[in-house]
Amino acid sequence: MSRILHIPNDIKKVLIVSFLNLVLYHYPLYKYVISKLDISEGKNVFFILSLVVFLLIFNSIVFYIVLFLLRKIGKWLLIFLFNISAIAVYFINTYGIVINKAMISNVLNSQLEEVNGFWSISLFIYIILFGLIPSIYIYKIKFTDFRIKNFLIYLLLSLTTLTSLAYANKSNWLWVNRNLKNIKTIAMPWSYIINTTRYYSHKNKENKKEILLPKATHLKRNEKNVVVLVIGESARSKNFSLYGYEKNTNPLLSKIDKLYKFNAKSNDTYTSEGVKSILSHKKGRELYESLPSYLYRNDVDVFWRTTNWGEPKIKTKSYQTREDLAKLVDWQKADFDEVLLSGLKEQIISSKKDKIFVVIHMYTSHGPEYYKKYPSEFNNFKPVCKEPALKKCVKEELINAYDNTILYTDYILSSLIKELKELKNYKPSMIFISDHGESLGEDDLYMHGLPKSMAPKEQLEIPFIVWSPSIEIKADKKNETLSQYYIFHSVMDALGISSPIYDENKSVFLK
Ligand SMILES: [Zn+2]
Repeated sequence: MSRILHIPNDIKKVLIVSFLNLVLYHYPLYKYVISKLDISEGKNVFFILSLVVFLLIFNSIVFYIVLFLLRKIGKWLLIFLFNISAIAVYFINTYGIVINKAMISNVLNSQLEEVNGFWSISLFIYIILFGLIPSIYIYKIKFTDFRIKNFLIYLLLSLTTLTSLAYANKSNWLWVNRNLKNIKTIAMPWSYIINTTRYYSHKNKENKKEILLPKATHLKRNEKNVVVLVIGESARSKNFSLYGYEKNTNPLLSKIDKLYKFNAKSNDTYTSEGVKSILSHKKGRELYESLPSYLYRNDVDVFWRTTNWGEPKIKTKSYQTREDLAKLVDWQKADFDEVLLSGLKEQIISSKKDKIFVVIHMYTSHGPEYYKKYPSEFNNFKPVCKEPALKKCVKEELINAYDNTILYTDYILSSLIKELKELKNYKPSMIFISDHGESLGEDDLYMHGLPKSMAPKEQLEIPFIVWSPSIEIKADKKNETLSQYYIFHSVMDALGISSPIYDENKSVFLK
């Protein structure tokens, strides 16, 4: 009997590691489970306990394999995972995000300057307390008595326990099934392991060749048209005074004649999907040729100007980043998005084509450091929050900083329209739409990137602003909520181009 009760040392150690994992990184999971279950009068206590024991045992088997079979490599792998978990839990707790495929895509596609914006004292404390300190414990684990027999017995006992627990909670299977998708975004380290794998397998599929669209025809050969599409970053319509916001964030645009706004909703809550939808002719998983590549292939001059990233593959001759554009302006201006307008008029005039399509991909309203995205003269709404851990911001100060980015966007768009008006030989149009919205503390959520099914309206409701003095607008579209696919067909209309995939119903313009 005593022989059976004796727990070998290596098993004790993996159980401690698994226990640490459950204590240190699962606060978001417990919070989620409790919020989704009725716990009045001691209901569901057995189920919650079973869930914890299930995770404890299940993870311990995995950690056993990693630690004792992979030896040194396993140790470092686990240290790596624990530190990533610490950082992940910080972001979940601070910004209300979840770790899904889209979030992994954001992280892997972000650039260093973006990552720097997230540094805060709290993040540092998380890394020390939840990353480094447990790492020391794992590092010190000694391999003393590993026996394959012990491992097999443990495996057998564990699997029996897991199966019994599952059967004892049969009445909750439906609940597990319904909530598993969300649990997989908050259980560590599985959330980022599963979703990084999903991200790469998806990317592999995406690398397949894009489907070319049918040949386009130019309907107005005798006309010179220029269309500038400005793609906003994290701009939500709620904070535009054009959309009824009480603070005057659009002092310049509101004075422009023939400027129209439409209600619109983004297709998703993150940059790459938002931009892809803006440049696609229809919804779908297939990889179709994007609007700029399509127009460029069909005799339109296309200029892509960006201070952002995450767009699909763009096949054009002219692709300019902040660094390229900065050479044309004073160094003070190169830090902000007005750099996107530098040399634009000259570029348009020097084109030999009659049809010009410009895409400007902005970065201005990207968090968490909103206050760094505009020049000091736009620091109009004060005081502003400068804390990257947005939860610590006074709500008004956070919104002030964000509102200043909208005020600056107002300036950039109106400056652009002013420049377009100076192009005497062209019929100009300007369209502004955002990739997705943004949460600013509503329901304790910040930034963007929640799965569409869970996303609040603030992350989806986006501005869609059109200035096109020589083309009439369809009045009835003002009462609808438009999708991002309207851009493709509206741009074709404004350039006087048609093709079999053109959908008249998805254009804001009257022909
Ligand atoms: Zn974005």
